Parts: sequence; C-alpha cells; structure tokens
Amino acid sequence: MASFPQHLLDGYRTFTTQRLPTEQSRYRELSERGQSPETMLIGCSDSRVSPEVIFDAGPGELFVVRNVANLVPVYQPDTGTHGVSAALESAVHVLKVKHIVVLGHAQCGGIRAFIDKIQPLSPGDFIGKWMQMFIKPGEVVEQREHESMQDFVVRIEKAAVFRSLENLMTFPFVRDRVERGEMQLHGAYFGVAEGSLFVLDRVAKEFVSAR
Ligand SMILES: [Zn+2]
Repeated sequence: MASFPQHLLDGYRTFTTQRLPTEQSRYRELSERGQSPETMLIGCSDSRVSPEVIFDAGPGELFVVRNVANLVPVYQPDTGTHGVSAALESAVHVLKVKHIVVLGHAQCGGIRAFIDKIQPLSPGDFIGKWMQMFIKPGEVVEQREHESMQDFVVRIEKAAVFRSLENLMTFPFVRDRVERGEMQLHGAYFGVAEGSLFVLDRVAKEFVSAR
C-alpha cells in the first residue's frame, strides 16, 4: 500500500503538539453540542486561498464549500446531484447561518481556463462544463477595447463573485431568509501576492480594501 504523505503526518504532529492543546476543550464542546457556525463560506479550491487561514478561523467557525472558481449554480431542483446546493441547504436549513460569503481570488486557474478557452478544455472535460455555469445563455464574455489582459482577468474573477451572489438568490430558501433579514450575503476578493482582502460594497458594486 502506498504510504501516507509524510509531510501530512508531520503537520498532524505539529497540530497535536501545538494547536490541539489550546483548542482541545473547544473540540470537545463542538463534539458534544454539534457545530453552529454563523458563516458559510464559498471559495475556490486553490491551495493558496484557504479561508480558515485568511480569516484566522478556529474549529466550528466556518462552514466551507470550495470548488473551482468559487461558483454557485442556479437553483435547479431536478434529478441531478448538486454538491454546492446540498451544502447550501444544510447551511441555511439546518445550521441557519447568518452570513454567506463568496470569496473570489487573484490568479484563479478556473477563470483563466474559462477566459483562454484553452485546449484541452473540450466540451467533454469537467472544467469546461463546470465553468459554463458562470455564463448565462447567450452571454458573451470578451476583453474590452483598451483593456489589458490582466485587467480583463481581474474583472472576470470579480464577476464570478457577483454571479455566485446572484445565483444564490435563485434558491428560494436563501432569498426568503435574506428578504426577512435573517441572513446576509457578502462578496470578497483575495489578492494572493499581497495577502490583501477586498470586501464587496453591495451598493457601490465595488470591492474595497478591508485594511
Ligand atoms: Zn480559483
């Protein structure tokens, strides 16, 4: 049998000697009472964008779903199996979270693949299909005149956050709680190189620095 990655075992050792002693009572409490996180976070699978690290969150604080390009599908109650929708249902119905945060980020590989429409993203490939949920039927995503490639990429990375927030509102149970003021939706964008966080101002429709 293949051996378990040593660096993970080393990391677990560090966890048990350094972090666990200070958090043991919290883990016990969470085990007995169950989790009751106030926030659901929908982020990208990108290894550089770890929500627990960025928000310095401990056990039981964040209910996290990560996928390629932090996308939320539209509400689609059909015979398909929908992972994000299932997680959303548990967060909203069961855990009754007060906030849902969609966290986008710089240098997103999923967005880049979508923009470049690169091979080998054939229609049969998973990323190509997955990224299709980002666009509405008939919508064309193009670089604007005089827009640099970098600005274009950033604009689309941020648009993915807007689209996910829009799609969240297509879920009746989300819309209902938001309209009753029991839950809030938020957008954020993480700059990998600087470790910078920008929070979406829903009124101005702009991301502003959290610092
Ligand atoms: Zn990404």
